[in-house]
Amino acid sequence: MSKKEKKLLWRILIAGVMFTILFPLHLKEVLPEYPELILFLIAYLIIGIDILEKAVRNITRGQVFDENFLMAIATIGAFCLGEYAEGVAVMLFYQVGELFQSYAVSKSRRSIADLMDIRPDYANIMRDGSLVQVDPEEVQIGNIIIVKPGERIPLDGIIEEGSSSLDTAALTGESVPREVGAGENVISGCINQTGRLTIRVSKEFGESTVAKILELVENASDKKSKSENFITRFARYYTPLVVIAAAILAILPPLITGQSFNIWIQRALTFLVISCPCALVISVPLSFFGGIGGASKSGVLVKGSNYLEALANTEIVVFDKTGTLTKGNFVVSEIYSKQMSKQELIRLAAYAEDYSSHPIAMSIKKAFGKNVDNSQIKDTTEVAGQGVRAVINGKIILAGNTRLMKTNHISYDDNTSAGTVVHLAVDGEYAGYIRIEDEIKPDSRQAILDLKAAGIKQTVMLTGDSDAVGKKVAAALNLDKAYTELLPADKVEQLEKLMHQKSQKGMLAFVGDGINDAPVLARTDIGIAMGGLGSDAAIEAADVVIMTDEPSKIATVMKISKKTLRIVRQNIIFALGVKGIVLILGALGFATMWAAVFADVGVSVIAIINAMRALNVKKFNQIHGYVL
Ligand code: ADP
Ligand code: MG
Repeated sequence: MSKKEKKLLWRILIAGVMFTILFPLHLKEVLPEYPELILFLIAYLIIGIDILEKAVRNITRGQVFDENFLMAIATIGAFCLGEYAEGVAVMLFYQVGELFQSYAVSKSRRSIADLMDIRPDYANIMRDGSLVQVDPEEVQIGNIIIVKPGERIPLDGIIEEGSSSLDTAALTGESVPREVGAGENVISGCINQTGRLTIRVSKEFGESTVAKILELVENASDKKSKSENFITRFARYYTPLVVIAAAILAILPPLITGQSFNIWIQRALTFLVISCPCALVISVPLSFFGGIGGASKSGVLVKGSNYLEALANTEIVVFDKTGTLTKGNFVVSEIYSKQMSKQELIRLAAYAEDYSSHPIAMSIKKAFGKNVDNSQIKDTTEVAGQGVRAVINGKIILAGNTRLMKTNHISYDDNTSAGTVVHLAVDGEYAGYIRIEDEIKPDSRQAILDLKAAGIKQTVMLTGDSDAVGKKVAAALNLDKAYTELLPADKVEQLEKLMHQKSQKGMLAFVGDGINDAPVLARTDIGIAMGGLGSDAAIEAADVVIMTDEPSKIATVMKISKKTLRIVRQNIIFALGVKGIVLILGALGFATMWAAVFADVGVSVIAIINAMRALNVKKFNQIHGYVL
């Protein structure tokens, strides 16, 4: 419990004790009028002073009609009518509800805060032969940092020396440690568990994975869902309407019927208390907050309530192939060289791919296994969806697919059997090819099955890879459709066609890794990216980031989304229903202010407890057997 909450709890206890003593005395009419008023007034101020202050402050700011105002006039009205006990009780119960709400919010905030816990405090760098701790923001690209066992990796980089196992749980929700060694990329936010690592920093702190994720989580609650916007608009009109209705209720009936004003003013005040829209105003955003928190617990970052809401209505899911459905971890299975040695062929390819971060480039560099001498490389250009062109030692090297060969009028050996083929040309002459093979991610098949079970109408794959490879993957995974040999622009075009195939309120989600598909990610209703591999473009362009790189998490987050929306609907119907009934009873004089308070606090508390269920996602994670 926070300090503020503890203080409120104390105030509730003190005012509560005073009330329990005063109330029987009041019923037996033991105390004379004025001492009784003063004692009740003290209890009232202890419990309600901040609400009165807030009401006054908001009035001076021009925001008259909020729940503080409703509570203030209802309770002050009660005092004016001589109903001191009611005045205190209403305030007391209202504050119990507030305390409860504040506790609920901080609880769901905490699960998101667990993610926030990834902020590193310092980085160790070598200075004049000794290790010093500096602010991660001071470290520059190319600097060497040391991360000792037990420390958090402060910046993204490449391991120069050492090996260790990394705890990535804070980022991915995955508790299985990741083994890393020299030459491998590490991302900030993970905890180094066993070995001492020497890391060459590859990004400034502001650009690091940690900074990106923190920024994303901090802004998540700014993007409101339709339901939240509805509630805000609703409250803006609703509260003034209620106040006007209450004023009419207090004035008109006594004028018409000749009954005493006191009775009707009391009914009007009761009406005000009941109509306080707190339960709705609180529980809807809280449910979304809980849903986003629950998703983050399962290793999925959702960038706003609007996206969480949209996920529930997804009809078509479109996948990129490389790095999304497949591991993107290509292994060289054949090298064919026309003249030069195989070693020379792969060297040229690795040099040409030096600046590319495409999974194919990474795999070729890994297969080459030696350091690249940058001074020999000039004029590298990456042709998206085709390959690369570079000048190495004065020779023009082309490395890429058949399309790249065709556009450069190079006749190549057609080779359509297993695997992806990277053709190589030197100074316009065909030199040979490197065949590489990727693996389908172990959970891709399950992911497609789960999506079908969740009612997704179409699963589609878009890929820039050859038709042979694309069709093979699509068949293995049982996808509804596969479009192959697409350039990034073709992917956008194909996606737009698919957008026409969904229903009016249906949504289309695109899942990619951000390499050659960032434009598509940005264009869809919901862009989902694989973020664990650390592609910045993806984390930025996407609306939802899957930290574990597992496509099966899409079905998980859809289930979370549906559950959240179900909770929101239940709360809206329940709160409006109960309020409506009590409101009518109150106006007719059947419900007292007591009943009104119970109804209000009761509904709020139940709605909040219901909203908190959105945070509980254990069930969804267990389906796939992940231990969290
Ligand atoms: P996907 O849609 O499967 O993710 P991309 O659009 O990223 O594929 O790439 C499509 C094809 O373009 C690859 O299968 C490969 O043949 C070729 N290609 C793209 N980038 C490179 C590269 N850096 N080196 C070699 N080939 C590449
Ligand atoms: Mg790709």
